[in-house]
Amino acid sequence: MTDTFVRPDWTPLDLPRAEQSFCVTNGDRFDTTDPTTGEVVASLTASTLEDVAGAVERARAAFGRRGWRNDGQVRCRVLFRYAEALRANRERLAELLTREQGKTLAESRNEIEGSADMVEFYAGLARSTYGRAIPVGDDAHSVILREPLGVVGVITPWNWPVVLLMRALAPALAAGNTVVVKPASLTPAVTVECLALLAADPDLPEGVLTCVLGSGAVVGDALVTNRHVEMIAFTGESGTGINVLKQAANDLRKVSLELGGKSPNIVFADADLDKALDGAVNAAFTTSGQICTAGSRLLLEDSIYEDFLARLTERVRALRLGDPLDPTTQMGPVVSRSQQTSVNGYVELGRAEGKLLVGDDLDDTEALRQGCYVAPAIVTDLPRSSRVVQEEIFGPVLVVQRFSGEAEAIEIAEDSQFGLAAGIWTSDLNRAWRVGRAVSSGTIWINTYHHFYPEAEVGGFRQSGLGRQQGLEGIHEFTETKHLNFDSKSTLF
Ligand code: NAD
Repeated sequence: MTDTFVRPDWTPLDLPRAEQSFCVTNGDRFDTTDPTTGEVVASLTASTLEDVAGAVERARAAFGRRGWRNDGQVRCRVLFRYAEALRANRERLAELLTREQGKTLAESRNEIEGSADMVEFYAGLARSTYGRAIPVGDDAHSVILREPLGVVGVITPWNWPVVLLMRALAPALAAGNTVVVKPASLTPAVTVECLALLAADPDLPEGVLTCVLGSGAVVGDALVTNRHVEMIAFTGESGTGINVLKQAANDLRKVSLELGGKSPNIVFADADLDKALDGAVNAAFTTSGQICTAGSRLLLEDSIYEDFLARLTERVRALRLGDPLDPTTQMGPVVSRSQQTSVNGYVELGRAEGKLLVGDDLDDTEALRQGCYVAPAIVTDLPRSSRVVQEEIFGPVLVVQRFSGEAEAIEIAEDSQFGLAAGIWTSDLNRAWRVGRAVSSGTIWINTYHHFYPEAEVGGFRQSGLGRQQGLEGIHEFTETKHLNFDSKSTLF
C-alpha cells in the first residue's frame, strides 16, 4: 500500500456552466469534495427559495403548454437519444461519479450503464401509457385515460445518485410530466453533468426539465412544500421520507418514498455455500455497504455457522481498500467525514455489545488516513434489540445472526422496522418459496443478490417506503386515471 494515491490530475468543475440554463441557481457558492483525497471536485452555486419557486413555475408553464404531455412519440425519441448519450459519455461520467462519491470505477461504470438501460426501458413505454374502454351498457360509453400529473419533484440521495435519479426521472418524463430535480448535496456535480445531456436535446421543450441545487433542509423543503408540485418522488432515509410525507399531507399531494433498509440475507445449510459466501460479501460490502438494499444482516443456520463465519472472516479481511479509481481496488471510502464518524460509532457499539470479528485493522497508511475510509467489519453475538442490529448503518458493517430451522430464520428476518430486500440461499425450491412468501420485503433474491432490472418493480414494506418504482407500476405511479363517461343517446354520437 502506497502512502499517497497516484491518480490523474483534476481541475475542479465550475457548475452550472452558463449554457446549463436548466439549473436555476442564484444563491451561495458551495464545493463538493472527493472522499478519497479531500480535493475539491466541483464548485457550484446553490438555489435560493425564490429560485425554487421560479423553477416550479417554469415547470408548471411547460406542462400548461401541452405539447410534451400530449406527444408520446417525441418523449420516446428524446428519451432514447438520452440513453445513447449516457452510454457515449460513460467514461467521463463514471470518473466524475467515483471522484464525487467514492465508489469503485467498476461500480460507477455499472451505474451509468444501468441508468442508460433504465431510460431506454421508459423510452419504450412513453408511447404506451394506454387507457381502456369500459363496457357500461347500451346507453353510455366509458373510457379510462391515464394522464400525467403535472410538475413532479424528484429528490435523490448520494449513494447511487445517477441510477436512482433515472428510475424516477425517466418514468415521470415518459408519462408526460415536467420535472424539477433536487440532487443530494454531496453529489450534485455528477447529477448536473448527466442532466445536461438531456437538456441539450433540441426536442426537449423549455421548462420540461429544471434542476435546483442546495441543502435538503432549505431547497428540498421548499420543493416539497410548494403546492404546485403535484407529486414528490423521494429517495433517502426513512426519517427524512416520513417528514416529506407529513409536509405533502398538508395539501394532500402525492408522494412516492424509497427509503432505508436492514435487509436479512439468509443462508440455509443445504445451500451452495461457495456461492452463498460470494453473495454475502457482495450483499454487505458493495459500495462500502452504502446501498439501501445491502444484505447487512447475515443469518446463518446453526450447523454451518462456525465454518461459514471463518471463511467469511478471511474473505472480508482480504478485501482490498484503496483508491476507487485504481481498477484493483475492491472497496473505496465512505462518502464523507460525517458518514465515517457515524459508521465508526456503530462499530464501537458493536464491539461493546457483541463480538467484533473484523473491523479493527484499517492499514495505517497516509493515503487511507487522508480519505474517509472505514475497515469492513463483522459483528456477532449481539442482542436482537441492539441498535447495531436494528438500525440502518449505511456503511461496511455486517451483523451476523444464528438460527435453527426455517421458522426461526423467518422470525429473525421479520424482526425489523424495515422491509426493503432479502436474500435466501438454499437448494430446496419449496423452502425458497415458503420463506420468500413469509418475509415482508419488496425484493427477495434467491441464490443471488443485488440484481436489478428496469422491468421489475422495487420498493419497501413497513418503513422502507411507499409505492413502487421501476417496471410498469413505476410509470403508473406518475399518472392519474381519469374516467370519461358519455351518454350515447346524446347528439355527440
Ligand atoms: P437523506 O434522507 O439525508 O437525503 C436524501 C435527499 O433528501 C437529499 O437530496 C437531501 O438533500 C434531501 N433532504 C434532506 N432533508 C430534506 C427535507 N427536510 N426536505 C426535503 N428534502 C430533504 O438520505 P441520504 O443520506 O442522501 O441517503 C441515504 C439514505 O437513502 C439511506 O437511508 C438509504 O437506505 C436511502 N436509500 C434508499 C433507496 C431505496 O431505493 N429505497 C435507495 C438509495 C438510498
